[in-house]
Amino acid sequence: MSTFKHFYHRDYDQKLALLSDFANLSDSQVEQFKKDYSANNDNLIENYVTNYSLPEGVAVNFVVNHKNYVAPMVTEEPSVIAAASNGARLLSKNDSLTAEVLGHNLMGQIVVKTDEANLMMGFVRTHNDEMLDVANQAHPSILKYGGGAQRIRVRKLDEHYVSIDLFVNVGEAMGANMMNSMLETLASFVETRFPNQVLMSILSNYAEDCLVKVTGSVAFNQLGTGDISGKDVARKIEEASHIAQIDKYRATTHNKGIMNGVDAIVMAMGNDWRAVESSVHAYASRDGQYRGLSNWHRVDDKLVGEMTLPLSLGFVGGAVKVLPKVKINQQLATVQSKDELAKLVAAVGLSQNLAALKALVTEGIQKGHMNLQLNSLAMTAGAEPSEVSRLVTAMKHQNKKDLNSAKELLKQIRNNDEGE
Ligand code: NDP
Repeated sequence: MSTFKHFYHRDYDQKLALLSDFANLSDSQVEQFKKDYSANNDNLIENYVTNYSLPEGVAVNFVVNHKNYVAPMVTEEPSVIAAASNGARLLSKNDSLTAEVLGHNLMGQIVVKTDEANLMMGFVRTHNDEMLDVANQAHPSILKYGGGAQRIRVRKLDEHYVSIDLFVNVGEAMGANMMNSMLETLASFVETRFPNQVLMSILSNYAEDCLVKVTGSVAFNQLGTGDISGKDVARKIEEASHIAQIDKYRATTHNKGIMNGVDAIVMAMGNDWRAVESSVHAYASRDGQYRGLSNWHRVDDKLVGEMTLPLSLGFVGGAVKVLPKVKINQQLATVQSKDELAKLVAAVGLSQNLAALKALVTEGIQKGHMNLQLNSLAMTAGAEPSEVSRLVTAMKHQNKKDLNSAKELLKQIRNNDEGE
């Protein structure tokens, strides 16, 4: 029998005791888990053990639609925040970053097993208003927030299945729970005519009705670096952007760079980054090939970038209401609605992308990266926070940037200190 049978019924200390036995945890390891216990989070997820914290920083220099922002970002990856700030500085110099939200609806689907797609289309056509009403009645307060069910469409998936798609304006929430309640109620209504034929009802994370478009430009003369002229850097960025359109291997990494920024701010804002990730990557392959999400072109003496992302975010609800730092981050970012948040998130993604492409086509990604990675290496080698900077300087000075050398250099630093 599994040691973990009915694990979720046990209280916190019993759970830790079982885990400690199972994995041979030391007393100090168990204490570390306990030290970071939070009753709030114990209620948030199942089989809660401890808080797992990630660093939060802020990317600066954002001017989006003529308003100044800082972008709170939660990430464990060095150089992400520096790059976002750097890209934002370039794009904000001439106040060029503009973003607009192109749609506000979340879509959910009821999948029905039927060979008679035409019958279903007829049923939905004749009951359209009634069905919108049924959906709204499942979560009537959404009308109070200015939202509600907007429209219904029927898609034939193959010879045996159709999807009834419900589009809902979910107000300031991400709307997953609200949508799922509406769908399940609507599914019962559909079953009155098509009994036992509903397979499932769930929102779609493909947020093509929540698109956010961001554009920005930077003058050639802001892009020069070392002995490469700004004009050449712009041309190379345009070429790099083209490669991400034609090669899925490059596109994946291009988009990973964008998501370095997007995920970090989405997390800081208490939003569901898995939903954002799945949506964005599906959107990147909307024409059948996976492509880069952004495009960069030279126009006159400027490099112009644009990107459209499907972002279904929430400004209320979900983790926003339970994670206390999210409220502070909303205030820090000075965003006041989910539309404003979506615009800032898209601007972070484009800025992140510009900084990465610029580094790639000039000095390479490693130079900036390694400087910051050395801090991590120093900590991995065992350096205390007060020793990190000295150890990094020593590693750079002696051009020794591997773990063994870091440990050796740390030993030398400590020996020297003792000798003083
Ligand atoms: P909630 O269930 O917290 O719902 C948001 C609630 O906020 C609303 O129901 C409403 O409650 C209240 N509210 C207050 N002001 C407003 C406003 N102006 N506009 C709209 N609602 C308002 O969260 P969501 O429904 O947003 O769901 C998000 C969560 O669902 C996330 O945690 C996500 O991880 C999770 N999830 C995601 C799925 C997916 O992506 N596939 C699937 C299932 C869950 P009231 O009407 O009572 O006032």
